[in-house]
Amino acid sequence: MTEPIFQEIETKLGRGTAVRIARDSVASVRAELSTSPAASESEPLTDILSAAGRAYRQELQRGTRRVINATGVVIHTNLGRSPLSKAAIDAVALEAGRYCTLEFDLETGKRGRRGERAESMICDLTGAESAVIVNNCAAAAFLVLRVLASGKEVIISRGELVEIGGDFRVPDVLAESGATLREVGTTNRTKLKDYERAIGENTGLILRVHPSNFRVVGFTETPSNSDLSKLARENGLPLVEDAGSGVLSDLAKFGLADEPIIADSIMDGVDLVMFSGDKLMGGVQAGFIVGSRNLVEKIRRHPLYRALRVDKLAYAAIEATLNAYRRGDHFAELPTLRMLSATRDEIGQRSIRLVKAVESNTGDSLKMDVIDGESVIGGGSAPDVHPPTCLISITKANASAEDLAKQLRLGEMPVIARIEDDRVLLDLRTVFPEEEEELVRAISSLCR
Ligand SMILES: *Cc1c(COP(=O)(O)O)cnc(C)c1O
Repeated sequence: MTEPIFQEIETKLGRGTAVRIARDSVASVRAELSTSPAASESEPLTDILSAAGRAYRQELQRGTRRVINATGVVIHTNLGRSPLSKAAIDAVALEAGRYCTLEFDLETGKRGRRGERAESMICDLTGAESAVIVNNCAAAAFLVLRVLASGKEVIISRGELVEIGGDFRVPDVLAESGATLREVGTTNRTKLKDYERAIGENTGLILRVHPSNFRVVGFTETPSNSDLSKLARENGLPLVEDAGSGVLSDLAKFGLADEPIIADSIMDGVDLVMFSGDKLMGGVQAGFIVGSRNLVEKIRRHPLYRALRVDKLAYAAIEATLNAYRRGDHFAELPTLRMLSATRDEIGQRSIRLVKAVESNTGDSLKMDVIDGESVIGGGSAPDVHPPTCLISITKANASAEDLAKQLRLGEMPVIARIEDDRVLLDLRTVFPEEEEELVRAISSLCR
């Protein structure tokens, strides 16, 4: 273990990992030698050291690392959905990172209530009476159904029995919560009468689910929230809505008119609305439950809330994110909204500048073009919205797009690209301007 590579591994990753990598490297070289003794021209030690170097680099690639998202998918679930604002990052690192006022009141010096500020901010922004925040929207939906409808029937339209992102299926969440599903209407049309006829002795609540990631178009019908809310009220039932994405301000001018605005749902009389914090809200992973004080307090008092609550880092990020809305600066401050609102022309100009910067390093050894294309909202939101964008297309003689994309992923600063028609495509919509220099370096290194 006196070789410098092993010393470096030990310093960076600990003795246990250095020993394991050394053992594995020796074993792999030994196995190689025993099957084809003539295969390697070099000394076994050299082979062992290069095997160890590879294993070390792989180990360094693992875990949570920053990447440059050049896919143009704004809310990219695999890349952590919404990037945080500068203020949210600072709040997490500088306010909540060490000791903080999580459950402490500076005024009285006594215990305070966790989440109070974040909850009152979301109430102000949505017009809701009360709010409680849990781990994510799936947890919010589960908790609400468990507390309000366990052992009872939940009435839901057949058009809203959706699956969102593989492991969140409305019927499964319902079953796990102990509620029974009472489907009404058809896939494309559900009338107020359908809901009305299904109400009985054992009805727990009426549930609406925003069909985030798919659309039924054409001959469709569904009652408005206000009509449903009137029906629910007449029958003494809560109306609950899983809105999916937490839209806090009108995004219609970006084509996102179909996404429910939380304040509208509250105004229309929905008793509880649930939504995510890291989709169109542009904040951190969280599940908001907002609405009537009675119902929210019932949820907060339930023992399961303790298991699903969020930590101090999340509260810090949520407060900073909501503060941007409160000041009306959300489009300028929150990366998700800023990226959504970027125009094709802005992205085109940045793309042309970036291509020139790369070409000044690499000459013409890469073939690069700026072409028209479409970005993607992602995160299971607005599947039919494709913001027009400009893409940088990259090809290189004797290299497949797969190879180039892999090289970009495994570079010093990982860059995630799209591949189409054997070209690598980069969409600067989702690249921060301050990342462009790193991106230029990453692309330039493809020539090597
Ligand atoms: C995304 C989504 C969820 C799940 O939200 P998470 O925050 O990822 O748990 C639930 N319901 C709807 C309608 C959604 O769009």
